[in-house]
Amino acid sequence: MDRAPASHADAVVVGAGFAGLYALHKLRSQGLSVRVFEAAPEVGGTWYFNRYPGARCDVESVDYCYSFSDELQQGWNWSEKYATQTEILDYMNWVADTLDLRRDITFSTRVTSAVLDEQALRWTVTTDGGEVVSTRFAVMATGALSAAITPDIPGLDSFAGQIHHTAHWPHEGVDFTGKRVAVIGTGSSGIQSIPIIAEQARQLYVFQRTPNYSIPAGNRALTAEELAEIKAGYAERRRVSFRSGGGSPYVGSTTPTMQVSAEERRAAYEKRWQLGGVLFSKTFPDQMTDLTANEEAKRFWEEKIRAVIDDPQVAELLIPDDHPIGAKRICTDSNYFETFNSPHVELISVRRTPIESIDATGITTTAAHVDVDAIVFATGFDALTGALGKIDIAGRGGERLRDDWADGPRTYLGLTDDGFPNLFMITGPGSPAVLANMVLGAEAHVNWIADCIRHLDENGYAAIEATPDAVDDWVAECAQRAETTLFTKANSWYLGANIPGKPRVFMLFCGGFGVYNDICAEVAASGFKGFELLPG
Ligand code: FAD
Ligand code: NAP
Repeated sequence: MDRAPASHADAVVVGAGFAGLYALHKLRSQGLSVRVFEAAPEVGGTWYFNRYPGARCDVESVDYCYSFSDELQQGWNWSEKYATQTEILDYMNWVADTLDLRRDITFSTRVTSAVLDEQALRWTVTTDGGEVVSTRFAVMATGALSAAITPDIPGLDSFAGQIHHTAHWPHEGVDFTGKRVAVIGTGSSGIQSIPIIAEQARQLYVFQRTPNYSIPAGNRALTAEELAEIKAGYAERRRVSFRSGGGSPYVGSTTPTMQVSAEERRAAYEKRWQLGGVLFSKTFPDQMTDLTANEEAKRFWEEKIRAVIDDPQVAELLIPDDHPIGAKRICTDSNYFETFNSPHVELISVRRTPIESIDATGITTTAAHVDVDAIVFATGFDALTGALGKIDIAGRGGERLRDDWADGPRTYLGLTDDGFPNLFMITGPGSPAVLANMVLGAEAHVNWIADCIRHLDENGYAAIEATPDAVDDWVAECAQRAETTLFTKANSWYLGANIPGKPRVFMLFCGGFGVYNDICAEVAASGFKGFELLPG
């Protein structure tokens, strides 16, 4: 039975991670009444949930933080090049306190549906707590990587030991001392946690499906002098970041890989290797578009990795041979590959010997049964569409967003969809999202949405809605851009390949963060081309 809205708001924001917190602050500052609903009991989103050992950012801390307020930028002192989950969560709590955000957030409350009232051009938002709110704008800050997945392995429920997922890690921590542990999954989360779990565990079994590329993070403490210098130069650092390909202040070489000598090439890779981190993928501008260029980078990577693994057979298993380097999200690590030199760490390829079942005592593969006391799932997320798909979103004519996206997400600019007026997504599919620093990505989106709302109000419009043509063209543009890169050459979660039955569509805009920001700015400056502005 439909329930009448108990309250009204100008905007409902779903989620209180980096995106939702800034959306609340920005829209509230613009005079809107804003309600935020967050499923977790606290702020933080990703950084509230992903508390596994070794969890850190892979964009430098000084860049992976809000840029919109110089007071915030200057007021926080990052202690390491890549901050731990704890430090990032502390930062987000500090921001929430500093900006007095909590008073408009309802915690431990999940939004279950958002239904459009076509006459009133308002959304009725319902929560699992039974609250019903009528709102003019619905802002989905639900996260690109917030719907964790655990594979459906026969017998999982019968396991008598501990089961953990990296994305739902217990707040009190887990002590693996003296335990036999299985980690399933070798993406970024597995690769960050495995070396630390190995330090504690009596025996560690790593179940690997696809070998992954990882680059040493090169993490280190930041000195007071460095921080002071960065803070003094923040304005320029951020300007460059918003114009860059990936949202960090990195200006790459413009010379293609094969146009420099073999010595210069090697020196360039070596330099990036020593600096550490994901920017190894951008050593040369054609690394992600040209297979020959990519092979060069891959060769260098392979040489480095083989040099630190003692057993050549283990190295053979750990080195990817089915996708270009960077075509899946590149990982960063501290001693990941070295961990496999320890006698108590065993690598099990589930490609060679698939997992068949789990019983009370452990995991059975086609080759053997391993007894374990704990199983850690580092098996990732239903990325980009998962969290949105869990909300029953009904637009014009009652059409469900999840039905509209049955063949892959349809958006204009990654921000909106036709048939869903005044419903915005932050870092949604069709935007650069996870291909760029997501804090700045969220800021760019929130700023665009706030400007759009101001435009509507100043010109007496009730709502904005993407046209079907604009959505179709944008989907086609994203696909075309992806085809010119190597991103489509891997079975990645960018393509939904990690979820059985999910449509195989490259879900991101891969033309670069700066280019994307220009397109969004141009659309706004043109009076919102590709949109219909609807009178009240
Ligand atoms: P989230 O932080 O995911 O927040 C979304 C929030 O919405 C969650 O709290 C969730 O509970 C809530 N929510 C969802 N659905 C509902 C609902 N129906 N009702 C109520 N609440 C709901 N990105 C980078 O750029 N650099 C990095 O270094 C980096 N490191 C990462 C490390 C890990 C371990 C992971 C998992 C991701 C990382 N990312 C990184 C991506 C990261 O998700 C983003 O950087 C950023 O934190 C996303 O913020 P967000 O607010 O968009 O989403
Ligand atoms: P992920 O990259 O999707 O990795 C999941 C791993 O689990 C993959 O190795 C996958 O194998 C494996 N897997 C999934 N289902 C399996 C099954 N049924 N059997 C065996 N193996 C299975 O997830 P993630 O590691 O959580 O990372 C997700 C994203 O979050 C990252 O790409 C990154 O964007 C972000 N992140 C960033 C950091 C950071 O360094 N800052 C840390 C963690 C996460 P396949 O590859 O074969 O699918």
